[in-house]
Amino acid sequence: MNYSKPKFKEKYGNFINGKFEAPDDGEYFDNHSPIDNMLLAKYPRSKESVVKKAIEAANNAKDAWGKTSVGERSAILMKIADVIEANLNEFAQMETADNGKAIRETVNADVPLAVDHFRYFASVIRAEEGSATELNENTVSLIIREPLGVVAQIIPWNFPLLMLAWKVAPALASGNCVVLKPAEQTPASATFLAERIGDLLPPGVFNVIHGFGPEAGKPLASSGKVDKVAFTGETTTGQLIMQYASKNLNPVTMELGGKSPNVFFSSIMDHDDDFLDKCIEGAVLFAFNQGEVCTAPSRLLIQEDIYDAFIEKVIARTEAIKMGDPFDMNTMMGAQASNDQHEKILSYIEIGKEEGAEVLTGGGAKKLDGDLSNGFYIQPTILKGHNKMRVFQEEIFGPVLAVCTFKDEAEAIEIANDTLYGLGAGVWTRDAHQLYQIPRAIKAGRVWVNCYHDYPAHAPFGGYKKSGFGRENHLMMLNHYRQTKNMLISY
Ligand code: NAD
Repeated sequence: MNYSKPKFKEKYGNFINGKFEAPDDGEYFDNHSPIDNMLLAKYPRSKESVVKKAIEAANNAKDAWGKTSVGERSAILMKIADVIEANLNEFAQMETADNGKAIRETVNADVPLAVDHFRYFASVIRAEEGSATELNENTVSLIIREPLGVVAQIIPWNFPLLMLAWKVAPALASGNCVVLKPAEQTPASATFLAERIGDLLPPGVFNVIHGFGPEAGKPLASSGKVDKVAFTGETTTGQLIMQYASKNLNPVTMELGGKSPNVFFSSIMDHDDDFLDKCIEGAVLFAFNQGEVCTAPSRLLIQEDIYDAFIEKVIARTEAIKMGDPFDMNTMMGAQASNDQHEKILSYIEIGKEEGAEVLTGGGAKKLDGDLSNGFYIQPTILKGHNKMRVFQEEIFGPVLAVCTFKDEAEAIEIANDTLYGLGAGVWTRDAHQLYQIPRAIKAGRVWVNCYHDYPAHAPFGGYKKSGFGRENHLMMLNHYRQTKNMLISY
């Protein structure tokens, strides 16, 4: 199949109470594609009045939706998954146009994973078992779960459809109504989804409002008429959102930034075989799928006795990464998501150089030909330095890999944990002791061992430290969207 930029309408509305609406003040913002900086479409620049309207629609819908049976909700979520799957190529092209990432990722990972998340939550709500305990012959303790009501969900631009699926699927499955604010950089997928699933859900159950963080996100997170705020984005934004939600004592889940260590021990070089190839892919590919992944393995730690041999292979593999038209299935790395992001990443490369980091490969912007010359591309870059440098400590969120060495297990653990973040980590070894003990010692919510960058719906995902709290995926997620009620029944 040949992929290309899909056709967008000139402008889109907010999706409120089951229909698309123009903004009440008529104000729109332009959304450009980072691939070539061309205008894709206009979206409402929503303010508090629109946000209130969406919240009211959700509140009006919540009682009836909360009373639907588990079977009904499960069937609807299954249909949503089917709709996304049936439109997989269209979703993938829309995401690539909107976000800039390579089509091979959106076709093979982002959209199929979103389908799987809807199916997973459609299934687990039917598989749950209740809990009743007989305390004595006359008394039973019964635990039941109730929906929270209306949940505010604010998501970032790096996986527009998948982050939506991670939040919307468990919230709807648990019987809540949703008001979702997508990132202003990537408003397309949520809009496209609402167009296709709007009639599967009663009006008001799923609402999408577009706009900027301080104008649309803040009134949403601050509202006393929502019952929970679920956020994915930068740590500093998460801190603001917690302040807004705290005024109403609303619960929050926070999926925030990361600076994940990827640790390679000497034993990986014991045999020159397929496993070593897997290690090289594990060091390179997941750092350079634009690098705009919260768990990107952006700190590469290599045991010093294998450093020279391993880094040579890592550099060779990095230099073989094919950049080019993101709609070409052979392209491995596409555009950065926006001009701002492009500038920020380039400035970090300069900071690294000023700090004394050695540029092992890359080190600047990448100019492509034709229309793509206006897009936002950066060479995959490797900087050698030490863990105290800013490029090792701050989330760059781009294709910049910071590499350093370590002597032994103790130093590997010390460097891995010497960060404000604790989202993801990778450990690569053939030593049975290290296989278990090193991941145990790393303070992160997800440690991949001899693999990386896999996000199955049934594995809990979330952060330690400044990477947030609460978990997504896994059936435990359902309880982030429910109240627990205990009934003590005496008879
Ligand atoms: P961001 O924090 O700038 O924006 C995220 C969302 O918050 C957007 O919808 C934005 O409009 C909104 N927002 C911004 N300011 C706001 C405010 N004052 N009030 C309310 N809403 C506001 O993050 P981003 O740049 O879109 O995304 C990148 C970040 O997301 C990175 O830090 C990345 O690590 C993180 N991320 C984390 C996970 C995870 O699961 N932990 C997943 C993906 C991305």
